[in-house]
Amino acid sequence: MRIVHPLRASVLLALLLATLLAFPRAPAAQERAPVPTPLLAPPPPATLAGGSAPGALVVTHGGVGSGPEYADGPRAAADTALRVLRAGGSALDAALAGTVWLENDPRFNAGTGANIRLDGRTIQMDASIMTDEGRFAAVGAIERVRNPVLVARAVMDSTPHLFMVGEGATRFAHRVGFADVVPTSPQAEAKYRARMKRQAELFARADTTIFDWRRYWNFPGPMPADVLEWSRHGDTVGSVARSADGHFAATLSTGGTSVTLCGRVGDVPVCGAGLFAGPAGAVACTGEGEQIIRRFLARSVYERMAAGVPARKAVEEAVAMFPARWDVGLIAVDRTGWGVAANRPMAHGMASR
Ligand code: ASP
Repeated sequence: MRIVHPLRASVLLALLLATLLAFPRAPAAQERAPVPTPLLAPPPPATLAGGSAPGALVVTHGGVGSGPEYADGPRAAADTALRVLRAGGSALDAALAGTVWLENDPRFNAGTGANIRLDGRTIQMDASIMTDEGRFAAVGAIERVRNPVLVARAVMDSTPHLFMVGEGATRFAHRVGFADVVPTSPQAEAKYRARMKRQAELFARADTTIFDWRRYWNFPGPMPADVLEWSRHGDTVGSVARSADGHFAATLSTGGTSVTLCGRVGDVPVCGAGLFAGPAGAVACTGEGEQIIRRFLARSVYERMAAGVPARKAVEEAVAMFPARWDVGLIAVDRTGWGVAANRPMAHGMASR
C-alpha cells in the first residue's frame, strides 16, 4: 500500500484550503439576488393585431416581410375561408381554402409564387396541416405541383403517413391526380433576377462570415456563373381557423428560403414548429425556419394559450422573446379571440362571423 508522506499531506491540505478561500461559495438558490425587473416595457412588435371575437373566425398571413401593400391578398383569403365555414365546412376546410387562395396569388412565396432556388430552376416547397384532434400531415421539398397544401391533405386523407418528402411526395401527388406543373411565375422570376446582381460583391468581401454554400453545391446541374446573395428571401403563407362549434385548424405553405442548398426544409412541415392546433386553439408561424424549429415555436405559443393567455398576448410575447436579428411572425386563434404579431411588417387578414 502506498503511504502519503505526512509533509506532502499537509501541503495538499493547505492548497485545498487556499482554493476554497480564493473562490467564494456560489450562493444557494434562495440567497441569489432577485433579477431586476426592467423599468421599460419592450417596444411593441412592428405588426400587432388581435382581440376578442367569438364564433367562426379565420386569420391569415402573407409571410413576415410582406408589407401592408399586400394586405388585400390575406384579407381576400380570410374572406374566402370564412365563406367555407358559413357554408358548413370544417375548420380544416376553411384553413385550407385560405392558404390555397394565397398559394394561387403569385405575389406570395408559396405555390405559384414560390421562390426559385440557387440554380435558377429548382422550386421546392413545404406545406402542412393540423386539426385540433391532433391530425397532422405534411409534405417537404415537394416539386412540380401548384398547391402543396392540398397534397398535404391528400397525405392525411389517403395514406397512413404523416410526412412525405422529395421525389416520393411529388410522385404521390401526380399519382393521386395533381397536375405535373412547375409553379413558376413572372413575379418569382423577377425576384430571382433581382437577387442575382449582388452576390459577387458579397462574396468578394474579405470581412464576411456568411456560410459559403458554393462549397456544398448539390443541385442537379452546374452552379450558375452569376452567383446569388446570401440573405434570407423567405416568407410563407398561412391560415388558422375556428369553426362556430369551436374546432380549430392551421395550415401553412411556403417556397422556403431561396438561398439554401437543394433539399433544405424549414419549419413549415415540422409539427409544433411551424404550426400547431389543439383544443385550446391554432397557431401558424413564418420567419427564419431554423430558429423557429429550435424554439418549437407554434407549440410553445399554443401552450401559453392552453394556460389561459389570450392569443394576442401569446403571439406578442413570442415575438418579444425571439432574437431581433431573425424575422418572425405568428397568427393565432384561441377559444375567444385571435392575435397577429411580427417583428417586421406582415400582411394579414381576419374575417369573423
Ligand atoms: N419559415 C419559412 C422557412 O424557413 C420561411 C418564411 O416563413 O419566411 O422555410
